[in-house]
Amino acid sequence: MVEEQLAGRGIRDARVLWALGRVPREQFVAPTHPERAYDDGALPIACGQTISQPYMVARMTELLAVDNADRVLEIGTGSGYQAAVLAQLAAHVYTIERHEPLLIEATARFAALGLTNITSQLGDGTLGWPAEAPFDAIMVTAGAPRVPTALPAQLADGGRLVIPVGAAHEQTLVVVRRHGDTFAHEQSLPCRFVKLRGAAGWPEHD
Ligand code: SAH
Repeated sequence: MVEEQLAGRGIRDARVLWALGRVPREQFVAPTHPERAYDDGALPIACGQTISQPYMVARMTELLAVDNADRVLEIGTGSGYQAAVLAQLAAHVYTIERHEPLLIEATARFAALGLTNITSQLGDGTLGWPAEAPFDAIMVTAGAPRVPTALPAQLADGGRLVIPVGAAHEQTLVVVRRHGDTFAHEQSLPCRFVKLRGAAGWPEHD
């Protein structure tokens, strides 16, 4: 997976490749199809959600430019795979999920893998995690109609936010960088994520 799907397709950051090589993806996919764990695509998980394609996990992690002293916020825990990758690279990862069954399973995986630098919480991530802010990096792993205002505001000076923004079925990865009170926006690659639902996202129900 690391050689063919990631390095072979332009993921250059050696720390990111190392991190993805360390996390056993088969432990994060549904036990009904372990043979698909290293497929080149997203896979279904419980609650109608998905575990992202390995390439997208790597690309977003690379764009986040995580340092080993960083405190990172992830929104959309899902299977917990992306949080486990970030936990290899950061000092601490905070992750928020709105579906309790997913959060319970993910938390059990973190414990089984001995990942003690992840703190997870049930809630609406469109509001960020004010009690633990500011963060050096924030990654949103669900598609938003627009950048929720709370998120750039919870970045530390020099902090980065990576978030898919756009329509329900197709988004663009947006990188926001904070310098003092200035926020620079940059558009990266097209992507397709499940909906970010909540106060500053899509409606809770269709
Ligand atoms: N990072 C995950 C991908 C999960 S898919 C992984 O590695 O497996 C996106 C997740 O975002 C879903 O689990 C969905 O329930 C969650 N989500 C959507 N809106 C949310 C919100 N407002 N707050 C927290 N989680 C949210």
